[in-house]
Amino acid sequence: MIIVRTIPELRTEVRRLRQEAERQSGRAEVGFVPTMGYLHEGHASLMRQAKEHCAVTVLSIFVNPIQFGPNEDLARYPRDEERDLKLAASLGIDIVFLPSPEEMYPQPTKTTIHVREVTEPLCGASRPGHFDGVTTVVAKLFHIVKPDRAYFGMKDAQQVAIIQQMVADLNFDVAIVPCPIVREADGLALSSRNVYLSGEERKQALGLSRSLRMAEEWLEQEPGLTAEEVKSRIRQVIGEAPLADIDYVDILTFPALQALPSGEPVGQAGSDVLIALAVRFGRTRLIDNRLFSRQGGRLCSVK
Ligand code: AMP
Repeated sequence: MIIVRTIPELRTEVRRLRQEAERQSGRAEVGFVPTMGYLHEGHASLMRQAKEHCAVTVLSIFVNPIQFGPNEDLARYPRDEERDLKLAASLGIDIVFLPSPEEMYPQPTKTTIHVREVTEPLCGASRPGHFDGVTTVVAKLFHIVKPDRAYFGMKDAQQVAIIQQMVADLNFDVAIVPCPIVREADGLALSSRNVYLSGEERKQALGLSRSLRMAEEWLEQEPGLTAEEVKSRIRQVIGEAPLADIDYVDILTFPALQALPSGEPVGQAGSDVLIALAVRFGRTRLIDNRLFSRQGGRLCSVK
């Protein structure tokens, strides 16, 4: 596994491995997995997908300062480079790119990428500027790595919708591959931020995935429920945990992320539907979601 920390080295190594792969097998797709490190099985699932479909795999680990708000957890974001490198090596990743903030931003960036509309609801409303930081760094990483395919987790469903929009609008020559949410056996969605949770907070955080599973049952048995009714039931389930402080519970179309017509049954939505939540436990903010798609006239949970 090649470990590089500068942009010129990364470009040289990607070019070299791409040419080598082309010579050896005629296959030369570069697969890219951008992360902020402190890797877990969710990240590993993205890397496995990349390995399976691409001749050359690139992982980036960069805690991107411009996507954190002034009162967010940039300084305390968990880091463990040694453990991350071991995991990446065990999965057969070819190149790991570990740039410093100075390498990525030698001077304060005067250019940011802003995607309209899809950035406004959900996390966009509670984390102003966050998605501009995400799209700007992802655009930079795409220019640096030049991947054919890039792998993103549906854990961050809004991020997937935004990146897909950016790629379409700006003609990036890369296929975005959304990958399913990886969960603990008890349902908690894996996240680097789960290490912040106390034992009690972690127990109470199970309300997020439980409420989404319940929503799936409700929609199956009562397809006439409106978004308002489902949201209020979800709030009730999560609210049973005394430590839970709900940021949002929302039900939107996917990937446009628009509100469903008021009073209309969720089961009659004309597009895919995303139920998304953000809940604070102490200083830790957790997100989770479930995507539903129309199959044979019914709205079904996408596994
Ligand atoms: P992060 O390091 O949190 O920025 O995440 C890097 C990538 O891993 C993003 O595309 C995330 O959506 C994805 N990811 C994080 N957690 C999970 C999970 N539990 N399941 C699937 N993908 C995930």
